[in-house]
Amino acid sequence: MPSLPLTVENAAAVERAAAAPFVEIDNVDLRYSEHADTHALTALQMSVAKGEFAAVVGPSGCGKSSLMKLVTGLLPPTSGTLSVAGKKVMGPLKIVGMAFQNSTLLPWRNILENTMLPLEIVQPHRAQLRSKRKEYEAIARGLLESVGLAGFEKRQPWMLSGGMQQRANLCRSLVHSPELLMLDEPFGALDAFTREELWAVLQDLWMQRRFTCILVTHDLREAAYLADVVYVMSARPGRVIATHRIDLPRPRTVASTFEPAFVDMVHRIRDQIAQARTPRKPSVGSEQGVA
Ligand code: ADP
Repeated sequence: MPSLPLTVENAAAVERAAAAPFVEIDNVDLRYSEHADTHALTALQMSVAKGEFAAVVGPSGCGKSSLMKLVTGLLPPTSGTLSVAGKKVMGPLKIVGMAFQNSTLLPWRNILENTMLPLEIVQPHRAQLRSKRKEYEAIARGLLESVGLAGFEKRQPWMLSGGMQQRANLCRSLVHSPELLMLDEPFGALDAFTREELWAVLQDLWMQRRFTCILVTHDLREAAYLADVVYVMSARPGRVIATHRIDLPRPRTVASTFEPAFVDMVHRIRDQIAQARTPRKPSVGSEQGVA
């Protein structure tokens, strides 16, 4: 069997992403307060190119959710700069779609109505919704069909399995064609088989639409399956300690994840995270914690 063209090139990965950064995080620090245990991120450096799929992995508490809040403009950094699409992030961004571990579908709305929700909130769609309702509905139906939910548009969320709800959740996060998709453990609550199905669904959506994507996950196979580049973060305060370029051809399949080169890559990342979690000797004044 030919070995997979999978390489680990930290410096090269950073260089390639830096060529045309869409999301640029430069020397960012985030402190929630002066307490050591609320120092979430330090000297964070990340550069995600337009249309690139990035994954962020790291030990619990390393600041992955804080990173999501910074990039989407929900939180300002304590120091350093953050820009998206060439503009400094100064507040909540309109060009972002988001999905979380909990699908957060509204129980009183059917699947189609849930999927269309961002069009009722995000401008300019909100202003155009009345005149363009048919067109928007067709977009939502098309998305639902592409993830295998045709025929389920009028069902309430509770009538669908967890995996189907997450499919609908992905559709909702993409219905307003965001340039940037931020995913925080979107498949964390699903069983292993459903999760793997959803990797393929997300990969298909990304290959069709080529939005820039940042995925936060604990699942290293998921990161390596989906991403072009995987950032490994240290324990709190989080910073990037390694960058892995995943040069596997697409579309990737679950079978790819059992190839030796893929397995080696996942082990390498796992080792780096284990090292990142290793307790350091406490030193006077040190605020390095272990998640
Ligand atoms: P992760 O998503 O990787 O588990 P978080 O971004 O949620 O990590 O948190 C990173 C660190 O920032 C935590 O260990 C915690 O100490 C601190 N932190 C997060 N949110 C808050 C908050 N609202 N107030 C104070 N400290 C916080």
